Amino acid sequence: MNDRADPSLLLQPLPDNPLLDRSELPAFDRIRAEHVAPALDVLLGEADAALERAVGPEVPPDYQALSAVLDVAVERLNRAWGHVRHLQAVADNPALRAAQGEQQQRVVEFTTRLGADERLYAKYKAVAASPQAAQLNTARRKALDDALRDFRLGGAELGGADKQRFAQIQERCAELSQRFGEHVLDATEAFELYVDEARLAGVPPDVLQAAKDDAQAHGRTEPGVCRLTLKAPCVIPLLQYAHDRSLRETVFRAQATRASEFGPAEQDNTPLMQELLVLRQEEAALLGLDSFAHLSLVPKMAEAPEQVLGFLRDLARRARPYAEKELARLRAHAASHLDLAELQPWDRAYASEHLKQSLFAFSGTEVQQYFTEPTVLKGLFRLIETLFGVAIRQQDAPVWHPSVRYYGLHRVGPQGSEPVAAFYLDLHARPGKQQGAWMDDARQRWVRPDEQGLQLPVAHLVCNFAPPVGERPALMTHDDVITLFHEFGHGLHHMLTRVDELAVSGIAGVEWDACELPSQFMENFCWEWEVLQRLTAHVDSGQPLPRALFDRMVAARTFQSGLQMLRHSEYAIFDMRAHLEPGAASNVQALAEAVAAEIALVPPPSFQRYPNSFTHLFDGGYAAGYYGYAWAEVLSADAYSAFEEAGIFDPATGARWRETVLEAGGSRPAMESFKAFRGREPQLDAMLRHQGLA
Ligand code: ZN
Repeated sequence: MNDRADPSLLLQPLPDNPLLDRSELPAFDRIRAEHVAPALDVLLGEADAALERAVGPEVPPDYQALSAVLDVAVERLNRAWGHVRHLQAVADNPALRAAQGEQQQRVVEFTTRLGADERLYAKYKAVAASPQAAQLNTARRKALDDALRDFRLGGAELGGADKQRFAQIQERCAELSQRFGEHVLDATEAFELYVDEARLAGVPPDVLQAAKDDAQAHGRTEPGVCRLTLKAPCVIPLLQYAHDRSLRETVFRAQATRASEFGPAEQDNTPLMQELLVLRQEEAALLGLDSFAHLSLVPKMAEAPEQVLGFLRDLARRARPYAEKELARLRAHAASHLDLAELQPWDRAYASEHLKQSLFAFSGTEVQQYFTEPTVLKGLFRLIETLFGVAIRQQDAPVWHPSVRYYGLHRVGPQGSEPVAAFYLDLHARPGKQQGAWMDDARQRWVRPDEQGLQLPVAHLVCNFAPPVGERPALMTHDDVITLFHEFGHGLHHMLTRVDELAVSGIAGVEWDACELPSQFMENFCWEWEVLQRLTAHVDSGQPLPRALFDRMVAARTFQSGLQMLRHSEYAIFDMRAHLEPGAASNVQALAEAVAAEIALVPPPSFQRYPNSFTHLFDGGYAAGYYGYAWAEVLSADAYSAFEEAGIFDPATGARWRETVLEAGGSRPAMESFKAFRGREPQLDAMLRHQGLA
């Protein structure tokens, strides 16, 4: 039934709409598609009215007064909309998807309008200029400064023709980015190759079977025929395992030249990249900044493009001698074991996989038998409780699927324990659930300016691990365990905050390139023998992971890390220079080649066009930000080294981490929090040591 067919239905608020319910926890078991539109009618109406009131004369330029009107209404809208989006991600059904799709535009429209409202910007400026602004606490001051900054970066200071041009640029860039992404997708999907299974010798049986099924699904029913594509589950194992060298070459070339001048002209991304880079520089110039790289760094932890380039070149310089050794070893192995005298780009993954197997052969399945889900969770909870002085207890709450669990987090002190946060744990893959793993907030910590007072944070921790089969507990791979720790790192950042301001509590207001610090930090524990012992119990024997197996896992961790670091530096330097140097747009490929000449050990093949499919930069949020991966890795390794020095279970170090980083959230610059924890600026050493590069 289509609710929208009868307009009278829209006017009658549904009695008992769980999305409008103000009780403690959302009724996830009762929210239905038909609740979405009526709830948004109410909530958007309230938020709109709040905006009008907030910018009017009745609300004085006072932080608390403004927050009481605007934040209360906007948070209520965002929270309910967050529940809808969450349900669509974890328990999708066609009706809910349709309801969400129909309403999305309204929410985006309101949010965009809110962020560009000149009257609201004037009101925030008046708050900042008022005498009481000097009395604002640090968190409020930071929230106010962030809000003013975002208005400025959104073009609020511009007038007349500049303002118009700024808006034009935004619109055009959004369009170009979308087309860039579509071209990559189209070019990826346009490639298909039908081969006989005899040519796929070496490829794992499940990949082979999938390629056969795919051929069948495309109407090719002759026996043994396989369909090959450039999608990750096909192309990656193909390049790693297929013995057929010319097949690897064909696929590699297709992959490396996607959306370039070697394919159909209408899918060539070259002109799009050029226009995007030119427009981004113009956008920065309108805001009075030297380059788009400078603009991108304004809300980030890194201070200047030169600092980032220095950081990346330093990484490359240190990784180089290791990478040279790794490459020499790979070439020797390829020549002596695989009869590949001259290693070509399409041989690299294949020879590397072969070398890796010969060095550390152990099967993931063998390791998996030790990581039974209940033992992993018990060990993880015990670690968190020990380090951060909290207790985790399972509690009752309405959930969206019977396998989802809900836990309260209590702070344990001399006076007993008090609740500080809670989280939903949704671990298993199932139909209707989006892939991947993520942490999301169901609610933020906030001392509300209305009668409800202190609101405690609630997190969603979502993964896609294999569910248990029959009576046996679910088994996790070591990668699954790392993912779980990673998401808990984000979750603890969200949940252990003690900040009272909505805009900067937990992960809110944290610089983009510092967000992964608490999450990557937690991953380090998954490489500790003392931790893993407590996380493992063999599904049949109950024995912990054997030490010898653990040692091989650790050795495999740093396999070719020098080469990987070089490649990452190459891409990140390309990104930074493309957005920094005024002439970069005129010849993007020339810049890519110049960076390769500086960083890479082997010149890339002349047909290589990776920028043309680099969606992070041209259709994602990573423009002049790709360095963020390595940046967060350095911070998290350096932070973790404090635990290595004091003992990884040291409660005093744990308490310091909790207080200086997790509790502070976005209430101060991330560098200040880091220095408060480490007593100095970040250093590279720990990351290099963890990667085997020192
Ligand atoms: Zn993350």
